[in-house]
Amino acid sequence: MELFEQQRSIRAQPALVLFSGGQDSTTCLAWALSHYTHVETVGFDYGQRHRVELAQRQIVREQLALGFPEWRARLGPDHTLDISVLGSISASALTQERTIELQQDGLPNTFVPARNLVFLTLAAALAYRRSIRILVGGMCQTDFSGYPDCRDATIRAQQAALTLGLNEEMLIETPLMWSDKAQIWALAQTLGGPTLVDVIVEHTHTCYLGQREQRHAWGYGCGQCPACELRSAGWRRWQASRAAQAPERSAPAGEGEAGN
Ligand code: ZN
Repeated sequence: MELFEQQRSIRAQPALVLFSGGQDSTTCLAWALSHYTHVETVGFDYGQRHRVELAQRQIVREQLALGFPEWRARLGPDHTLDISVLGSISASALTQERTIELQQDGLPNTFVPARNLVFLTLAAALAYRRSIRILVGGMCQTDFSGYPDCRDATIRAQQAALTLGLNEEMLIETPLMWSDKAQIWALAQTLGGPTLVDVIVEHTHTCYLGQREQRHAWGYGCGQCPACELRSAGWRRWQASRAAQAPERSAPAGEGEAGN
């Protein structure tokens, strides 16, 4: 029923999704495939430490096409942009004290200030060339982990700058902006049911250490790094909220209401 509701609001426009192969951007891709008739993806290779994420991108795309025939029809080409210059910025920053603080906070070594602004600008340039005026990104203010370029005000300012700079109205859709990690799991369930949740668990990558040997209920990863902690804590909260709702669903008629 929820899937059907999503279908009705579909717009006959192309969109470009900033797609890294992680949980958030995969949920964004599913969201875009539920809202737009043609969806392309773009990934950025900037020498990131968890390169396994890049390798998972094609697998996730294939799995979505396999599991959802209606999405397969809408899924357009993938683009990968090599922006290794960003890697050299983060490498030179390793000599500065600030980076050491960031490491103690648990942010990755490859943390690049204003990274999302660079991504959005490059994505907009690519979109412009491909006659696409809608970008979709997984920026999220709720769990923004200290990245100020994930905040809604930053994205709105970037949208205004791109619209002026390209002299074309650019829209940046951020369907996860006000969601926490539990709500992002719930959104995946709404968009694609257990099939989509399975694709995310089995094939998306989040772990900062690039670990894919250990399988947890929420997917693969070291289980210790901040990215794994956010993902697993979100999974646990989502499971807990579903369990809390489950007795209502299974209770015999008449008894479910009494508990509320
Ligand atoms: Zn990890």
